[in-house]
Amino acid sequence: MGIFDKGTAKTKQSFFQRLSRAVMGRSKVDDDVLDAIEEALVSSDMGVDTTLKVIDRLEERVEKDKYMSFDELVALLRDEISKLIDLDGTEEVVPFDFSHKPYVIMVVGVNGVGKTTTIGKLAAMLREQGKKVIVGAADTFRAAAVDQLQVWADRAGADIVRQNMGSDPASVAFDTVKAAVARGADVAIIDTAGRLHNRIDLMNELTKIRNVMRKVIPDAPHDVLLVLDGSTGQNAFQQAKEFSRATDVTSLAVTKLDGSAKGGVVIGIVDQFKIPIKFIGIGEGIDDLKVFDRQEFVTSLFTPEDLKK
Ligand code: GDP
Ligand code: GDP
Ligand code: MG
Repeated sequence: MGIFDKGTAKTKQSFFQRLSRAVMGRSKVDDDVLDAIEEALVSSDMGVDTTLKVIDRLEERVEKDKYMSFDELVALLRDEISKLIDLDGTEEVVPFDFSHKPYVIMVVGVNGVGKTTTIGKLAAMLREQGKKVIVGAADTFRAAAVDQLQVWADRAGADIVRQNMGSDPASVAFDTVKAAVARGADVAIIDTAGRLHNRIDLMNELTKIRNVMRKVIPDAPHDVLLVLDGSTGQNAFQQAKEFSRATDVTSLAVTKLDGSAKGGVVIGIVDQFKIPIKFIGIGEGIDDLKVFDRQEFVTSLFTPEDLKK
């Protein structure tokens, strides 16, 4: 079992089920087979644009009506998807830039996508690297939000800066960054309340939070991390599009890829957006966050064990 197997098991299973069903009993690649593959890709939520790109490339490489085994076809498909998300020339994901001290991350997204949980996991990941971490409870909107972050901070061994519910989120962010500087923290992570991209007032609130942090550190936040719920498929895709239009998003985390049959959305997002996916969430536990590795992700979709089934 590779490290991504937990996260992509469901995705893999249904992607492969669909794919096998699509080409079962066929020995040559004709239009029907290509149509069926297209359907399998679309239903994994890869997105129509990305799917068509894959199909076009596949068509270029497969001679019409050529006899081909399932294994050969899958190898071709895997190769094309790998190339598609390899984005030639782009460097590897660098999750944190410790040349900034503190390195400030602001976490944004709609309600319930996993922002607070992801912050807890991130804090734990950083603590394991021996980093000093402070989290800021700038989701002051919901009653339980601050306590939820407190639980995660305790679990991870991070400091927390908090005020009362209903206080100004920008004020919490300011205090957090100030405390991070004063205490010599390596990383400060700011939690924010869930919001929809079309609520102009709430989008302006993010700008305000950002501006206030800049009074302490002129180039903060160094990362604006948009969290997306991968199990919502095309919805996540839409959120990435609209959120990045409404505010400066610099990286993405895609959560809930465990138990989801819609992991194709990750491939679609990498293909369609210029914003890098830095993390994937594969469960509710503290260790269920991985730094995103494109090749590893594709490999986990197409493992040799599956080809033998
Ligand atoms: P927020 O509103 O964006 O802060 O979302 P929360 O962090 O409160 O998470 C909402 C729910 O999603 C909680 O029940 C989390 O346990 C759950 N959750 C978050 N990330 C993951 C994940 O990667 N996998 C699964 N299965 N659940 C997750
Ligand atoms: P309305 O905005 O006046 O129609 O009433 P609401 O009850 O929806 O919101 C009152 C205030 O609470 C808003 O002006 C927002 O500042 C804030 N608010 C409402 N909904 C949300 C939300 O989902 N997230 C956050 N962060 N703030 C919200
Ligand atoms: Mg939250």
